[in-house]
Amino acid sequence: MKQNITLLGAGLVGSLLAILLQKRGYQVSVIERRGDMRKTTVSAGRSINLAMSVRGWAGLELADLRKEIEEIAIPMFGREIHPVEGNTIFQYYGKNKEAIYSVSRGELNKKLIELAEQNGVQFIFNKRILDVDIDTNTLTIEDTLTKEVSIDKNHELIIASDGAFSALRNAYTKKDRYNYNQFYIEHGYKELHIPAGPNSSFLMEKNALHIWPRKNYMLIALPNIDGSFTCTLFFPFEGNPSFTSLKTKEEITDFFTTQFPDAIALMPTFIEDYLQNPTSSLVTVKCEPWTHKDKSMLIGDAAHAIVPFYGQGMNAGFEDCCQFIEILDASEDKNWKTIFEAYQKARKQNGDAVADLALNNFIEMRDKIASPAFLERKKIEKELGILFPNVFNSVYEMVSFSHTPYSIAINSQKAQDKLLENIMQEGDFDSNISDPIFKTKLNQWMQEYTVEINQITASLI
Ligand SMILES: Cc1cc2nc3c(=O)[nH]c(=O)nc-3n(C[C@H](O)[C@H](O)[C@H](O)COP(=O)(O)OP(=O)(O)OC[C@H]3O[C@@H](n4cnc5c(N)ncnc54)[C@H](O)[C@@H]3O)c2cc1C
Repeated sequence: MKQNITLLGAGLVGSLLAILLQKRGYQVSVIERRGDMRKTTVSAGRSINLAMSVRGWAGLELADLRKEIEEIAIPMFGREIHPVEGNTIFQYYGKNKEAIYSVSRGELNKKLIELAEQNGVQFIFNKRILDVDIDTNTLTIEDTLTKEVSIDKNHELIIASDGAFSALRNAYTKKDRYNYNQFYIEHGYKELHIPAGPNSSFLMEKNALHIWPRKNYMLIALPNIDGSFTCTLFFPFEGNPSFTSLKTKEEITDFFTTQFPDAIALMPTFIEDYLQNPTSSLVTVKCEPWTHKDKSMLIGDAAHAIVPFYGQGMNAGFEDCCQFIEILDASEDKNWKTIFEAYQKARKQNGDAVADLALNNFIEMRDKIASPAFLERKKIEKELGILFPNVFNSVYEMVSFSHTPYSIAINSQKAQDKLLENIMQEGDFDSNISDPIFKTKLNQWMQEYTVEINQITASLI
């Protein structure tokens, strides 16, 4: 029986999985290309915070870390939309005022590494995996400090949690009949900063995810516990306006003053931040298979890198960990080939689905979100959830506030579009809802909707 497990990458997913496996009696080593982040400071422009929702919390709960992270998490009950002309609009995310939580990615990662180490996981820092021989589980490793390259043979079992540009996945792509798809969107992102006010006060609504939707681009901001906000500008690389077109201080100032007037009033360093912070690209990766024989597998971004517009990358990765552990715990003979296959069967279609959900949500966030029709639709969705609590959950709620498989959530979208179109075509929902004729129609549409959702669920589970 295999007892030694080598994880590649000590990011969020690798560190969580290391804790879960070590607690089950495996001896886990994690090889990480960066130095120990507990001893280094985060470089400027790389301090992003993440939105954690129920799937992420479930992973932390499994590792007994939920309480500790809750203390450094800020609930965001809705979106605060900032139109160009001012007058912000607040929209609750869920019908029961559920929240997603802003958490510092660095702090979370450090706490996961700390707990893993306390449980006996061995971390090997400053070692970059250059290549993997997937049939012998032999690693080619570079020491990132000395640049020395070594060969490390015969790892019993390898799990790659080495992110969007995984070395193991790269080795898989050389296999016969390997399916691999990598897609960059035309937008990149840059981090900007709103500092805290006097006495660590928040200069905007604390318990919200702030969005400045501007059709082809957008700015967002998430709160930090020190009273500041981390802002991210999602902007095209090319065209006008774009990262390429905005170069000089005057161009940057002009653009921000016109497009984000209320934001730059709170950003004393926006020009320096814009000029100094890196511009990063956004990639989606789909690949298959995620596993090789009884030897290795991919997890987290290594298996399914997605764009960040649904706030689900880490959440999906933590859900991978929970389901993998569930399958492992349920396996009596610990046959790794069977375990890997079951894991891939459970997660692959959900990895693809969350990638598509995330791409679709970009258009919603940057373009549709401020339109009256969108706001009306969101309001009706919440009322349907209250009127038909056992039948209707919006796709957003399924993704962020439930454990509904992502594949079911995305496939429910069409049925919800049809239902909402029928309802909105009848005019004002608030006045219609007291009309018996409308109510009869609504009940009929809800019945049809239920049948469709049941069919979708039956076909995917
Ligand atoms: C701008 C932005 C905002 C985001 N917002 C959210 C959000 O709100 N909510 C959410 O759930 N997700 C969000 N995400 C996604 C989230 O960050 C990722 O899904 C998550 O970090 C994936 O974790 P991971 O451990 O799989 O990969 P990573 O976090 O990328 O970790 C991979 C680790 O492997 C190491 N590594 C890489 N290559 C090698 C190698 N060759 N050898 C050794 N080590 C290696 C890396 O140094 C790193 O430590 C966001 C992402 C971005 C870019």
